[in-house]
Amino acid sequence: MFTAFLIKYAEIGVKGRNRYLFEDALVHQIKFALKKCEGSFLVHKDQGRIYVDAQGEFDFDEAVESLRHVFGISGICPVVYVEDEGFEKLCGTVVGYIAEVYPDRNKTFKVNARRARKNYPKESMEINADLGEAILNACPEMRVDVHNPDIMLNIEIREKIYIYSEIIPGPGGMPVGTGGKAMLLLSGGIDSPVAGYMIAKRGVKIDAVYFHAPPYTSEWAKQKVVDLARLVSRYAGPVYLHVINFTDIQMYIYEKCPHEELTIIMRRYMMRIAEHIAKETECLGLVTGESIGQVASQTMNSLIATNEVCELPVYRPLIGFDKEEIVTVAKKIGTFETSIQPFEDCCTIFVAKHPVTKPNVNIIRRHEHNLEERIEELVATALETKELIVAE
Ligand code: ATP
Ligand code: MG
Repeated sequence: MFTAFLIKYAEIGVKGRNRYLFEDALVHQIKFALKKCEGSFLVHKDQGRIYVDAQGEFDFDEAVESLRHVFGISGICPVVYVEDEGFEKLCGTVVGYIAEVYPDRNKTFKVNARRARKNYPKESMEINADLGEAILNACPEMRVDVHNPDIMLNIEIREKIYIYSEIIPGPGGMPVGTGGKAMLLLSGGIDSPVAGYMIAKRGVKIDAVYFHAPPYTSEWAKQKVVDLARLVSRYAGPVYLHVINFTDIQMYIYEKCPHEELTIIMRRYMMRIAEHIAKETECLGLVTGESIGQVASQTMNSLIATNEVCELPVYRPLIGFDKEEIVTVAKKIGTFETSIQPFEDCCTIFVAKHPVTKPNVNIIRRHEHNLEERIEELVATALETKELIVAE
């Protein structure tokens, strides 16, 4: 029955020039989201609104599911288009619509007509009253409630007449692409995909970097990260995933530095390399899945040590979240099942029994001097040999 969707969006600050940027980014993201759906769609702006028109057959549930992944959408209204063939005909169509969408008639309603085409023979108030009467005649169980109706029946008079009443909630947030770009440190765990989702929700496009340590981490572990990037891309749009071979750097640190500082020093090199790629690709910040106190490398002291090697701001959207709260979001966005597949991650291979929880930055820096001889060359090689995968 439905042939289109009216897209509702709401965010403060969507005025003037910003409004165009916001709407254009939203249209772009909607097109991307619908690309994989059955059927074809025309996405267009019309008088400050965005419509998605199905061109022929399409899978309604699949289209709605895809639209529910597009940040910036606050509501998705399924719309019925009808030709203007006189008011009598419209009354019949509207009564038929009510019968089909609300089989349980015991509801209150209000008709809310809008005349976008001013040459329509009736004014909005008149349409409201006359259509209301037609509905009451056909469905005597229904009642009018103009203040708090169960059903707000919207009738828009344009070239065609649009009928809609349902609002399916969207994910909210800002359209991806309106907020610049950030580099996500994406591991195979539960946290970092959630962190990426949260930053993307604010309109930020996401690139990602994964530190791979073959043969200590398998091809499966890498595939899992690619899968996670693809799941995040359902919300964030295509994710450019940079895969860095980290093995030699990791081995070298293992050889030259105290083992209880290995994780921290390794993380400092991850941040340095991530920042290098971020700057090359015009990212405005780094994003990690860290949360205070979750593990030894995420105490406030450890965060000082990993933070100080970067100039770009490091965004940590999960900083105040408990693991349980992160898991809830991971399940909601569909990354959890992939994240818990048991593959080694490069941090878990060499972890010390008793990693430092209060690293002293001066001592860490001193121990990093042990790496002087080869580290620059190893980092350069890691950057030269990085692999780029587009996850979408
Ligand atoms: P996650 O569940 O995201 O893996 P975690 O609890 O395992 O997080 P850590 O291993 O301490 O936490 O990593 C903290 C953050 O560092 C991660 O959230 C991620 O942003 C980044 N990170 C860790 N390992 C890697 C890796 N191999 N490649 C890219 N980023 C990583
Ligand atoms: Mg991890």
